[in-house]
Amino acid sequence: MAAESPSTAVRSTAIPARPPIKYCSACGSDRLDLRVPDGDTLPRLVCAACATIHYQNPKIVVGCLPEFGDQVLLCRRAIEPRHGLWTLPAGFLENSETLSAGAVRETLEEANARVVIGDLYTIISLPHISQIYMMFRARLVDLDFGPGPESLEVHLFHEDEIPWEEMAFRTIGRTLRNYFLDRKLGTLQTRVSALERKAPRPDLSGAG
Ligand SMILES: [Zn+2]
Repeated sequence: MAAESPSTAVRSTAIPARPPIKYCSACGSDRLDLRVPDGDTLPRLVCAACATIHYQNPKIVVGCLPEFGDQVLLCRRAIEPRHGLWTLPAGFLENSETLSAGAVRETLEEANARVVIGDLYTIISLPHISQIYMMFRARLVDLDFGPGPESLEVHLFHEDEIPWEEMAFRTIGRTLRNYFLDRKLGTLQTRVSALERKAPRPDLSGAG
């Protein structure tokens, strides 16, 4: 099978813009052209009125895997998307924030829990939605935790209690599966991977 050339792969993920931009944030014009600026290699939204180039780059989701003995802390989501499903504390990194500060903040917001951030554990690229997940291992400092406004409940789980069928995100399921496996094998170290767009379910409706 012929491999897709690297340049084709890069182009296919660079556009369209996410989220779509309708107005220039510098001058307010709605005349935005999609074109390759001089000296660039990819199409960008360029304002026809003031020439501002609107670069768009991936967003970082940062969070942690809070450990307490052999248990881990999970939150059940009170918000969409994936309301009612379980996740690790995580969210978008803010401007001017360090990765570890973001992980601490998200854990406090979602689980009212205090953690000491440890090693970076997973880095997962999601090119189809232009996001990068960065999850740290962390030590839960005490058992004084509870749901923040974005969580329905917060619990410590042993491995055999994890609600695997009710995971909110594939990134979180992967992080937890790898974690329990690596912990057993004594091979906990940073894992770098990617998740592509989910393949559509096969059509079993019986057509034909
Ligand atoms: Zn403009």
